[in-house]
Amino acid sequence: MNKAEVCQVVLRDATRAFDRVYTYLIPPELRDQLVVGCLAEVPFGKGNRPEAAFVTACRQLEEETPYQLKSVLRLLADRPVLRPDQIRLALHMKNRWLCSWGDALRCMVPAAVSAVREKVVRMAELIDPAEAASRLADGEISRLGQLRVIELLLDVGAAPVQEIMSACQVSRSILSTLAKNEWLRFYEQEIRRTLEGEDDYAIQEPFTPNPAQAEAIGRVSRALTSCEASLEGCQEYLLYGVTGSGKTEVYLQTAQAAVNLGRSVLILVPEIALTPQMIRRIRSRFGTMVAVLHSRLTPAERYEQWQRVLRQEVTVVVGARSAVFAPLLDIGLIIIDEEQEATYKSETHPRYHARDVARLRARDHGAVLLLGSATPSVESYQRCVSGQATLLRLPDRVGEAGMAVTEIVDMRRELADGNRSMFSRRLTQALNAAFAGGQQAIIFLNRRGFAGSVLCRNCGHIVRCRSCSVAMTTHLDRHAAEPADSKTAPVRLICHYCGRITSVPERCPACGSRLIGRFGAGTQQAETMFNALFAPAKALRMDQDTSVGRTAHERLLDQFERKEAQALIGTQMIAKGHDFPNVTVVGVLAADLMLGISDFRSSERAFQLITQAAGRAGRGTMPGTVIIQAYNIDDYAIRLAADQDYPAFFQQEIAYRSLMQYPPFAVICMVTISSLQEDEAKERCERLAEACRVRLKEEAAFAHVQMMEPARAPIYRIRSRYRYRLVIKASGHELLAAFIAPLIDGLDLKKAAIALDFDPYSML
Ligand code: ADP
Ligand code: ZN
Ligand code: ZN
Repeated sequence: MNKAEVCQVVLRDATRAFDRVYTYLIPPELRDQLVVGCLAEVPFGKGNRPEAAFVTACRQLEEETPYQLKSVLRLLADRPVLRPDQIRLALHMKNRWLCSWGDALRCMVPAAVSAVREKVVRMAELIDPAEAASRLADGEISRLGQLRVIELLLDVGAAPVQEIMSACQVSRSILSTLAKNEWLRFYEQEIRRTLEGEDDYAIQEPFTPNPAQAEAIGRVSRALTSCEASLEGCQEYLLYGVTGSGKTEVYLQTAQAAVNLGRSVLILVPEIALTPQMIRRIRSRFGTMVAVLHSRLTPAERYEQWQRVLRQEVTVVVGARSAVFAPLLDIGLIIIDEEQEATYKSETHPRYHARDVARLRARDHGAVLLLGSATPSVESYQRCVSGQATLLRLPDRVGEAGMAVTEIVDMRRELADGNRSMFSRRLTQALNAAFAGGQQAIIFLNRRGFAGSVLCRNCGHIVRCRSCSVAMTTHLDRHAAEPADSKTAPVRLICHYCGRITSVPERCPACGSRLIGRFGAGTQQAETMFNALFAPAKALRMDQDTSVGRTAHERLLDQFERKEAQALIGTQMIAKGHDFPNVTVVGVLAADLMLGISDFRSSERAFQLITQAAGRAGRGTMPGTVIIQAYNIDDYAIRLAADQDYPAFFQQEIAYRSLMQYPPFAVICMVTISSLQEDEAKERCERLAEACRVRLKEEAAFAHVQMMEPARAPIYRIRSRYRYRLVIKASGHELLAAFIAPLIDGLDLKKAAIALDFDPYSML
């Protein structure tokens, strides 16, 4: 057989202008090894600068090649890092989200792949933890990123650099700065390849399905065989069942059916750290056939898991969003649990949605796509209405526990009656009763708007970040001495957009008044107030700030499960997934804080969060009570969430989406242009708008594309960059991408930056 002599490659790190397929000669010594999917180094441009490149095709040399071909320099990994279907997927992504080949392919190859060829990993540790803690208390740190790193290392001791970067979302330069300032030092460590908890499972037999489960399992299993036979198109199902209705059992048994057919299974969950129970159940059925991929693995662990998938040692992959790219062969079934979750949408470029990627992969593999939810996204439910997907229902909870009883409390009334506390009288009474009976409670709070900000009561000035047009948020200083009470507790201000940290000013920066103070209801304030009202009952708090580090979540959840505290207080993080049989009361504080955000999804989000929070009550044999506190008790999302009436909510919401031509009736692309110079951002954005207008007028194919007027973004400054916004709408993805692509290529950005977000989840 003749060996391939030339290959086609795409550059890993090319800008849009160089994002093309290039042809190179394969030198004779690489002809045995170099195949499609390899990561190689090629000489590029006039200076023959070495560039990393993925091999997308190989072939024989044709006689009449008109120009001189350059040769591949070397391989950057011994074996292929991609499968051919992933290269096809990357092309789809490139066309759909207007990203480069490299952007798409980098999603599919763990960052550590080239690095982990070496057998050591770079670690970081604090030089002196005690001193670090005291320097921290002295306020020596001024950036959130640095703070996160120090706090993580105070928690875990030492950690691999890659992992710190991803857990704390910081760049390498932050770590270097910390090293330069003698907080931490680097060292190298041999790679450990075992995964904790890997052998920690007991095999569990499947349950006998109830009739509704049996129906769902039967339908999906039959689809598996017919998909396999036809290998064309994918079949899509939406499993809609309230929390506790047995969806997980349907996932496990349909996954088994796919495995029995010799095919592999991909299971996506919103956040691995939040779903340890689910992982345990999957392991207990599939044992060592499972690989778990998630963002908190160390690079070495991730590399090892990913290699196991490539070597076909596993048939089931469980993971969060990025696991949708796992290099599984012959996928038969893709399951997306809690498909409505926003965590499936990537918030960094390329801003893909895992559900869309899953659909592309399912089509390519001839697989069944099974979406599951207690509160399906409006998009997915509409696909069932329009016949693109099939609805499967699990109408009842498994076991004796019925649905929880839900009550709405009007907080305007509470205030009128003189109760200024965050806890209504009804909730206080329910909590006291539960604690007296030895039961537990979950208190759920969504921190939004001005909650947790610092306000001058004299002139109304709100302390904002100097670089971003958003209010700074107050945080208790965890590493300072234990606060005696909330008034004197050490507090710092953090900007959640750029990470700047400052202290609370003693006088109002605007008017000089001393009447400046904290305002609004954050989780910390709820905790303080809880302690004042319910001591000796104890509360655990769980939110973004208490959950830095790999194991913080699990530790808190374990403590709660062991009943070391009576209440769990937290943000939406605690609203989902967990199964605590001893919880009988769920309180939702300020339910309407989620509404009124300038975002077409805000009602949907409020409905989902309240319904999910409610699903936490009464999971055991005792009945549950859910108390929803709101100021605007007439809002349809709150009312229908209290009734747990999804179909009614869907009817209202879909009518609104249709009227406004919002998704799923249209596709939106939000183009954001940012610059340090305000006029530059504005001018580029207007120029883009003008180019859009011309294209709309001149090309009949785009007659139905709509463009809003360019405008300042709602948060118009982030990290000192001014942001302008152009929103473009069309009936379909292909049309919209085809419309936009030449426009952004033609735009001379100068120093401005451009970001594209298709189907945005945050409109800020
Ligand atoms: P969901 O995923 O819809 O929230 P789960 O699958 O977690 O629901 O099921 C809720 C509880 O019911 C779990 O404790 C599970 O073990 C149990 N369960 C599920 N299906 C059955 C069944 N067919 N027979 C008995 N128990 C079941
Ligand atoms: Zn003031
Ligand atoms: Zn900021």
